Amino acid sequence: MKLPEYCVEIDPFLGRYYAGRSMESIAEELAVHGFDGVQYVITRDSRVNRDLIDALHRRKIHVDYATFGNGTYDTQDLPAGWEGWRMVTRQPMNDGYTRLCLNHPDYRRWKKAQIARILREHPFDGVHIMEPFWPEYPGPSAPAYACLCERCRGLFTQMHPGEEPPEFTDESHPLFWRKQPELYAKWVQFRASCHTDFLHDLLNGEGGIRQTRPRTPVTVWILAIDVPDPVRFVKEVHGQDIADVVRRARPDAICLQTHWPDWIKANLLPDYVRAYQPLVRAARAVRSNLPIMVQADIGSQPQNRQSWDWIARFRQACRQIGVQSVTLYEYMLGMYMYTDPPRVMRAIKTAQNTVMLVFNKRVDAQNAGDKSRYTFAPPLEIDSVQVDGNLVYLHTAALRRGQRYRLTIKAVRDDPSTRWLPDTPACTLEEQTVTL
Ligand SMILES: [Zn+2]
Repeated sequence: MKLPEYCVEIDPFLGRYYAGRSMESIAEELAVHGFDGVQYVITRDSRVNRDLIDALHRRKIHVDYATFGNGTYDTQDLPAGWEGWRMVTRQPMNDGYTRLCLNHPDYRRWKKAQIARILREHPFDGVHIMEPFWPEYPGPSAPAYACLCERCRGLFTQMHPGEEPPEFTDESHPLFWRKQPELYAKWVQFRASCHTDFLHDLLNGEGGIRQTRPRTPVTVWILAIDVPDPVRFVKEVHGQDIADVVRRARPDAICLQTHWPDWIKANLLPDYVRAYQPLVRAARAVRSNLPIMVQADIGSQPQNRQSWDWIARFRQACRQIGVQSVTLYEYMLGMYMYTDPPRVMRAIKTAQNTVMLVFNKRVDAQNAGDKSRYTFAPPLEIDSVQVDGNLVYLHTAALRRGQRYRLTIKAVRDDPSTRWLPDTPACTLEEQTVTL
């Protein structure tokens, strides 16, 4: 299997950028930036938009169903009784994310059936199991450290008869994890093996992806972090043993997800991924030709918004560690949304009296809908202008066959209200001339 090389994550329900425009315009916008793959982040399966998948396919863009492994941001689609699937975290969490126990058989059964149903109903090209890890950084001191449910505790005792899992809250308890290095090591191993079991079941178990959709490639996400021994670290803290996952669950590809302590850094150098090389080596020690991608965050917070130039250098650094594919979270979060003026990337005659302009970004519909901003040479009457996201349709008098036109576009601006953060003014295209 060959992964698409230049991917981006899209969540159409994030902010306002994707609202009130056609799926066609979203696909055109991604295509003009050269993306050949999209991980379509689905927070609620019942809201998958078939038109978006089809529009991306028409632009020859590969589309993956990207679903969360260890829980959900939206409990709407979960069946009755799902509350019993919750992970038990060290402290109660109320952060908008519902963590579900990887060891709960009903959760696994439901998740497998759900993935099978989505793949049956929609023409996705692959599946990404995002974030199947156990929470949470930096380890047992994290409030979200999990899972400590009765089922997980019981499974541990089943594996180690006569022993209880370590204690993670009461420091005076004789089994407090820091006082019991051997017990804690068994616990770390237990979590890692449960994590691989979960993925193995999802991929290869009864009703799993391989059984229901044998030809659909599956990519599993593994956290990556800049620490002295990232392989050991993600195994201990998140129960992700990359070699064991590759060996037993046999994913078609691995995606190394930049962990938040790395991506939140201001001034993060684009070659930070060099620190991830041990993870690449550990995976490829099991399967030397394993396709791997790296996921980077390009702007979830104000200080980590990245430019196109940063992204190009990040891709270069990934190639240097032997990784050909990247994906970016999330398209609309990048710094370019705040700094780049609108620019026409393609101008096409789509009918005898219509010219379609494809901009690099969404433009302000009212501003770009003003026909005085467009001038043809030789002169051509413009009857009306229609704006759809980053697409502008100029409805004109009949274009003469064989005639070349120069079209000058002036003072078209973008719409800051559609950005994730409203902290910068509109960007304006001063003047651009295109030939058609
Ligand atoms: Zn559990």
